[in-house]
Amino acid sequence: MSEYPFPDPVVEIADVQELARDVVVIPNRDVDLVPNIGVIGGTHSVLVVDTGLGPRNAETVLAFASEYANGRRLYLTTTHFHPEHAFGARVFAGEATYLVNTAQAEDLAVKGEGYLAMFRQLGEPVARALEGTGIPVPDSTYDGTRELDLGGRVVLLRPTGRAHSKGDQVVTVPDADVMFTGDLAEAGQFAIFPWFPPHDTDVSGIRWIEVVERLVGERPRVVVPGHGAVGDTGLLTQVRDYLVELRDETWARRDSAVPEETIAEEVRALMVQRHPEWRLPEWVERGVGCLCAEWPGPRDQGRSR
Ligand SMILES: [Zn+2]
Repeated sequence: MSEYPFPDPVVEIADVQELARDVVVIPNRDVDLVPNIGVIGGTHSVLVVDTGLGPRNAETVLAFASEYANGRRLYLTTTHFHPEHAFGARVFAGEATYLVNTAQAEDLAVKGEGYLAMFRQLGEPVARALEGTGIPVPDSTYDGTRELDLGGRVVLLRPTGRAHSKGDQVVTVPDADVMFTGDLAEAGQFAIFPWFPPHDTDVSGIRWIEVVERLVGERPRVVVPGHGAVGDTGLLTQVRDYLVELRDETWARRDSAVPEETIAEEVRALMVQRHPEWRLPEWVERGVGCLCAEWPGPRDQGRSR
């Protein structure tokens, strides 16, 4: 994955942010491999969105959620199968009903073990956080939109189709106009392209652009990205524009038969120059790799972008 030395990926219950009535986020404080975690309440039930990496982080989240719920029934969902988002779900067994879209359940079953092994190589703090982790098994799966009634509030769990992963979904709270995007959007860092050929090539830059375009069209008031500060529709626009930029710069060079390695170097330098404040530029090269694989062939008169 990345040569970056990952710090201890600890979920801390600090600076919990209220986004709307009975909707809060435990912010990731820009710590890598810590996701933003949502807690959404209704009159009789509470939904937790994402778990943090490994059992101890999930225990922290579960303790917070139980106290927050104060007797209300607990549900858990995860935005996608990646370890820092989902690999704490087993801790919720018996305490919460774990719901995910079918494609994500398949990702967990097919790729969970491989990702666990890969993440254990990311340094001692990450390996320690993963001690005792089992691959999550959902209690219930669905296709299409799942409307979850929390009591006086319906939350929508909507699979987007393949983008950042095969099984991405967004979670929206329509009455509060809040959207949890998982890693379909990040703030303050380059978009995460989990392009790890030959093991995982599910990420699609092209599909991702289409998905984010659709989400931009919904103009949510509050957008909670997978990682980084909470924003609004502008955050989604920024992600879309970056992905389009990345595609166009990659394909322009591919059209000119520039070798992939050179494309990666050039495009990374260009993107760092255009977004000097963004973290984790190593994801640019992975994005270039993905988009080179999705290159539609030499530009001709019929092709439009
Ligand atoms: Zn992810």
